[in-house]
Amino acid sequence: MSQTTQPIIQVAVPAPLRRKFDYLLSDTINPADILPGMRVLVPFGCSQKIAIVLGQSQHTDIELKKLRPISNVLDKKPVLSEQIIQLLNWVAGYYHHPIGEVFQIALPVHYRKKEINLEPQNKQWFLTEKGQNADWNILKRAVRQHSILLQLKQSSCGVSKEQFASRQEGQWQNALKTLIEKQWVEARTIASPDIDAITQAGISKQPGLLLNPEQQTAVNHLMQYDNQYHASLIDGITGSGKTEVYLSFIKQQLENKKQVLVLVPEIGLTPQLIERFEARFSVAIKTLHSGLNNTQRMIVWQQCISGEVRILIGTRSAVFTPMPDLGAIIIDEEHDISFKQQNGIRYSAKDIALVRANHAKIPIILGTATPSMESLYLCQTKKMTHLLLHQRAGGAKPPETYLIDVRGQTLLHGISRTLIDLIKKHLEKDNQVLLFQNRRGYAPVLLCNKCGWISHCHRCDAKLTYHHGHNRLRCHHCQTEQTLPAQCPECAHTELSCLGVGTERVEKIVNELFPDIEVIRIDRDTTQRKDALQKMLETVKNGKRQILIGTQMLAKGHHFPNVTLVAILDIDQGLYSVDFRAPERLAQLIVQVSGRAGRAEKKGQVVLQTAHPEDEMLNTLLNFGYTGFAEKVLQERKELLLPPYAYQAMIRAEANKIENYQIFLEYCFQALSSIKQNLPTDNHCQLLGPVPAPMEKKAGKYRGQLLVQTDQRKYLHYLFEELIKSVEANKAAQRVHWSIDFDPQDLS
Ligand code: ADP
Ligand code: ZN
Ligand code: ZN
Repeated sequence: MSQTTQPIIQVAVPAPLRRKFDYLLSDTINPADILPGMRVLVPFGCSQKIAIVLGQSQHTDIELKKLRPISNVLDKKPVLSEQIIQLLNWVAGYYHHPIGEVFQIALPVHYRKKEINLEPQNKQWFLTEKGQNADWNILKRAVRQHSILLQLKQSSCGVSKEQFASRQEGQWQNALKTLIEKQWVEARTIASPDIDAITQAGISKQPGLLLNPEQQTAVNHLMQYDNQYHASLIDGITGSGKTEVYLSFIKQQLENKKQVLVLVPEIGLTPQLIERFEARFSVAIKTLHSGLNNTQRMIVWQQCISGEVRILIGTRSAVFTPMPDLGAIIIDEEHDISFKQQNGIRYSAKDIALVRANHAKIPIILGTATPSMESLYLCQTKKMTHLLLHQRAGGAKPPETYLIDVRGQTLLHGISRTLIDLIKKHLEKDNQVLLFQNRRGYAPVLLCNKCGWISHCHRCDAKLTYHHGHNRLRCHHCQTEQTLPAQCPECAHTELSCLGVGTERVEKIVNELFPDIEVIRIDRDTTQRKDALQKMLETVKNGKRQILIGTQMLAKGHHFPNVTLVAILDIDQGLYSVDFRAPERLAQLIVQVSGRAGRAEKKGQVVLQTAHPEDEMLNTLLNFGYTGFAEKVLQERKELLLPPYAYQAMIRAEANKIENYQIFLEYCFQALSSIKQNLPTDNHCQLLGPVPAPMEKKAGKYRGQLLVQTDQRKYLHYLFEELIKSVEANKAAQRVHWSIDFDPQDLS
């Protein structure tokens, strides 16, 4: 270790290395000007990289003469707050991930490149009175000016340069200049938002609903925990008024001049949630999700930092947004697997949110109709308060659920006679029917009747799905596409048949069976165009006598007041899976899909088609509800010592050759076996594998995995800390792409 009189600057460099880097300061830079969270340019190898300052020290483990000075300081003040730096340090440690890469995910893309001027723009443009009263028709041919005026009209709080840039095209700057010269538009400088003024102006547009006693009890409970860490689970059936509880709680936060962060699984799927927030509050509400471009994301990020945005609704990466007045975090649909990132840093936004709330000493609320086993376990162990909402708010009745035994029935493209009759009955009463089939395309397999050839993807261990609309075969795992063969590629036989049922096939048969009924299919294929989903949802909302067909996109959050029958066409796919979480996921799906039925005054019916009506898990769910089901699952997990009663991490490796991943994982296995010797002898640490991944070949790569399970979390961390040290120096690691997944949610 070297001791110096000059300060050593520790930084996080974007590189796949699990360590901090030390740099010196040149004489021209005053050490007092360097604060944690600022970006600096540093020489790294033979290039320059943008790094984040983590701190200063008088020591370094590196020989002083080997240290190089920082090339440049890019910010005048930190771009990441202390709170976020602390959080990112935790993430890097917990997930054993390179710290420089962790810091990258928290920064908007523009901040990772140096060229851009990032000083938040405090100049905003507004319509003048003259502009408002002018006759815009005379600008019909000046398309750009017209478009700028429209954008200004839509935004009462002014439009910034970036906002123009993200919406306007071509030479919009010139058009803006012309409008300013005409005095139709003027620029004003915006001071930092005055939070007092925002709150005094009134935060509510609409009063909240009068809460029912259960809701009120929940809200009263939540209100106790201001300015302190406390986690609560709102476990309430669909339609029980969870959102109303959030709104009521948020109102208090806003009145206390606090910001609120709301995490949701997918923004595109929850337009109704956002609409409700916007209808209720007059403060600035913004969303952060992958549908925004880099500039839009950056603007929202800056507005959160400045305090202008009071409610941020975002998907998982929004958990890293700096919010100086953050007063509470809400995680809606907390059971949803999309809170877990499935590549790169495999973080759980839910767990990070819990840590963030803990660091920040604020309350956090998780809400769902189908709690994850992890959250229920936290409630059992008193680390979270369990708040139950049993009744549907607003008087709606819960649906009746039963099974249709399809054994011995001929299915018409996946639909039983019993179900067809039932659909008729519901349509006759002018109601809507929802058919749920969790598979896109027409059929998942194409088969030659003569030789048995099957449509395999040549890059994956998977079959190609036949898409009727495009008349192509598609792989749902690697996006490979082929034209439909006119004959069998093996034996030239011309009769090829479709096996299995996808949404397109259901659509076709339903159209044939019910020619007068409007059929709306909602899946990734029909909703690719922007606003397509929104439009379809509108049609459904206003419609009667319709049949909706959809994948799990339909399971999330939508309200379909006129749907009285929900049918899950094939639940058997989910009954027999190698993943121990499969029953939990299936039950969540069934309950979530069922929740779409009979939300208004109309009572709903839910039917599940199955060839296994005796299945124990299904019957537990039907007879004892999700709560009874969850109790049973938790009991089972406890007996088998599975999460949440044990801790898991998975090493995944992929390579161009099978041997390469095998050699690497075998090396990990040996290394872990010997590291394990250092643990106390009564440890319950298991190395499960290495084994090929359930889909060994995917997109041309071969994949394998090794699961590590322990009874104490600290053992798991110890094993991986030691493993990484030896892996990073190992040659076998260079021939594979490997990753670590702590708390894996998906074992495939
Ligand atoms: P959840 O989020 O649990 O699905 P919501 O908050 O969306 O439930 O409520 C379901 C429906 O019941 C909504 O239409 C909502 O407006 C209505 N609702 C909620 N709380 C009340 C209440 N206290 N009184 C009347 N209607 C309510
Ligand atoms: Zn053939
Ligand atoms: Zn493929």
